[in-house]
Amino acid sequence: MNRVGRPPLEEALAEAEKQCAANGNQLTELRRAVLTLVLAAPGPLTAYQLLDQLKAVRKSAVPPTVYRALDFLIDNRLVHKVEQLNAFIPCSDTHHDHHDVQFLICDKCGTVAEIEDRAIARALAKAAEKHGFHPSKAVVELDGTCAACMAEQGK
Ligand SMILES: [Zn+2]
Ligand SMILES: [Zn+2]
Repeated sequence: MNRVGRPPLEEALAEAEKQCAANGNQLTELRRAVLTLVLAAPGPLTAYQLLDQLKAVRKSAVPPTVYRALDFLIDNRLVHKVEQLNAFIPCSDTHHDHHDVQFLICDKCGTVAEIEDRAIARALAKAAEKHGFHPSKAVVELDGTCAACMAEQGK
């Protein structure tokens, strides 16, 4: 399991609980269970993979159960949806602005890294402005090869 650079699971869950409370929301048992699965996964998970895993602990789980929990987690800045993969990853920095974020998607190992470069967001906003377009969201998804896979290739 690849959790390098991420806080331990228990710590991440405690932090998530605090964050929900600060938003006036509650991290219910179900939401917590879904978040735990997303946090523990080595890479992005689709809603159906989540449902399968959730069923192990909650037999009655159906797709809307998972979608509602995911919506909640996204609204509370705990989880991101990677549109291109139609899959979900934990947010690595729950304090950032989720409208301007960049994902680095490795097509070799399937990992997704999250970066937030304000210069990219600004450049995009400026380019859009030239066309009189006002963006409400500027999420960029880049495909390629991650550093670890590049190193592996060079061997
Ligand atoms: Zn994030
Ligand atoms: Zn990779």
